[in-house]
Amino acid sequence: MYGWTGRLLRVNLSKGKAETSQYGANLAKAYLGGRGFAVKILWDELEQGVDPLSPFNKLIFAAGPLTGFALPSSGKLVVAAKSPLTGGYGDGSIGSQAAVQMRKAGYDAVIVERKADKPTVLLVHDNSVEFLDGGALWGLNSFETEKKLHALYGPTAGVLCIGQGGENLVCFANVVSQEGRAGGRPGMGAVMGSKNLKAVVFLGTSDLAAAYPKEMKDLGAEAYREIMMKPNYAFWKRQGTMSTIEWSQENSVLPTRNFSEGIFGKAEAIGGFAMEKLRIGQRGCPQCNMVCGNIIRDSDRKKSELDYENVAMLGSNIGLGDLRQVAALNRVADEYGLDAISLGNVLGFAMEASEKGLIDEKISWGEFKATKALIEDIAHRRGFRGNLLAEGVRSAAEKLDRSSERWAMHIKGLEISAYDCHTTPGMALAYATSSIGAHHKDAWVISWEVKAGRSGYSVEKVDKIIELQRIRAGIFESLTVCRLPWIEVGFELEWYTKFLHAATGLEMTLDGLKLVADRIFNLTRAFWIREYAKNWTKEMDTPPPRWFEEPLSKGPMKGSRLDREKYGAMLQAYYMKRGWDERGVPRVSTLTRLGLEDVARQLKKAKLSE
Ligand code: SF4
Repeated sequence: MYGWTGRLLRVNLSKGKAETSQYGANLAKAYLGGRGFAVKILWDELEQGVDPLSPFNKLIFAAGPLTGFALPSSGKLVVAAKSPLTGGYGDGSIGSQAAVQMRKAGYDAVIVERKADKPTVLLVHDNSVEFLDGGALWGLNSFETEKKLHALYGPTAGVLCIGQGGENLVCFANVVSQEGRAGGRPGMGAVMGSKNLKAVVFLGTSDLAAAYPKEMKDLGAEAYREIMMKPNYAFWKRQGTMSTIEWSQENSVLPTRNFSEGIFGKAEAIGGFAMEKLRIGQRGCPQCNMVCGNIIRDSDRKKSELDYENVAMLGSNIGLGDLRQVAALNRVADEYGLDAISLGNVLGFAMEASEKGLIDEKISWGEFKATKALIEDIAHRRGFRGNLLAEGVRSAAEKLDRSSERWAMHIKGLEISAYDCHTTPGMALAYATSSIGAHHKDAWVISWEVKAGRSGYSVEKVDKIIELQRIRAGIFESLTVCRLPWIEVGFELEWYTKFLHAATGLEMTLDGLKLVADRIFNLTRAFWIREYAKNWTKEMDTPPPRWFEEPLSKGPMKGSRLDREKYGAMLQAYYMKRGWDERGVPRVSTLTRLGLEDVARQLKKAKLSE
């Protein structure tokens, strides 16, 4: 095969053994790579009901057929496992040299099984796999860990590691690389920690084989040029995703005080222009000329890499309007290896719980020092509060006081990311039907929705969400390239079919890629259904009560809230268009059409589908 290495590495941590296997063109064509490979492996190999933090969960690192080639934004991999936060499918993508080095070492994916008996570093150097003592690194934060490993293996080594959050099994701990490039929101860092795996280091020396090397070289050069010529490029380079703070404020969707409002009095102070005044540098993923990580010095004089999601969740959502302080919280989140989105959501929940007198200790909106101390408690699972919040908002609400479930801002256990949806039913549906729980990545429909008419619950919105899920959740996550050139500067989708052809020789149209995307999306859904079994209901695809019951009290959209009945009808329209039944379970005919007959059989046998 070209493009794909055709090789998987399977690592057994309890035995300290590794083996390589080959896979064929059928798997490659049907699932492409990245998320596609990850969900296929987890569906095939995990026992239903496995405890996500037990040795029997599997942790997958998977790249795609474009990863590592000299193509725009192709330095990414997906990290996936059954999630300890949601109990369903979990993954995230990370822009890292580790993606490039893993492929150059000769692997498209690494499957990590069982649990090491002591802290371990996995060193993969081409065909050599070593299980090294990670005892000296255990307890260090992700920045310190990476620094030490780079000192040992060189600055170009690809390192993926966890901080104390992952070690202490915080359910929203992530995997970190390159000082703040992090991924795996639904607790992939905790799964890594549960296996005593502190870090993975990749060193690869082989060149990737393209089907058409000359075409690949020319296309890559042309594509980088094309991106730089786009009209939005110059402004994007100035602010990256940070300009979204101003956009969200203008449109009343900036999450504020635990998603109770859509505008924040101090938005300007944490926005893109404020960031520009403080910026001291920029950082990005390998192979990228969009470079969206903007670095400022935080209030502790440390460097912190900012983007919209992190700033909104650790800023407006907790009532904090000082950008250097927001940056300091972001920095500690990265150091501990805690997902900053979930963390900001959890902190907002804690502040509201404190305000309502549901927890003893006082923590007020925007209180910087106390918040920083609370993050430390969460990362170390210290005390009642630290332990409670380390489980995420769904679990915290269940344990604290059932009344708090109305404003525990999650869907399927994953904390909602940084868009308030009182006024945007389409975005609410996009969150509710995302592959991993309430994440914006699968279908960021909100900017289209605000322009197209935000208050409607139309079928047109449903179509748009499905279309975006095909492109973003399917094509980008399985080719494993960053979607931002397409979204932010309008780099056309047709480029990716050309890239795929040059890399693999495969002639696949966009429609062909969308079919693959549907296969992956339905298999992901089947994974959730299998795990939740009899407990699965359509309520799993419904946003929290707050957005239906508590209208916005400020700004131009004052008085707005979601309509439960209309939302329910839109959800049913979504199910119908997807070929799912009225509970959101894929129909046998749908699975069969996508070549998932065996999945249909398994769901039927377990009496989970019609
Ligand atoms: S646009 Fe940003 S997230 Fe995407 S590859 Fe480039 S640096 Fe990474």
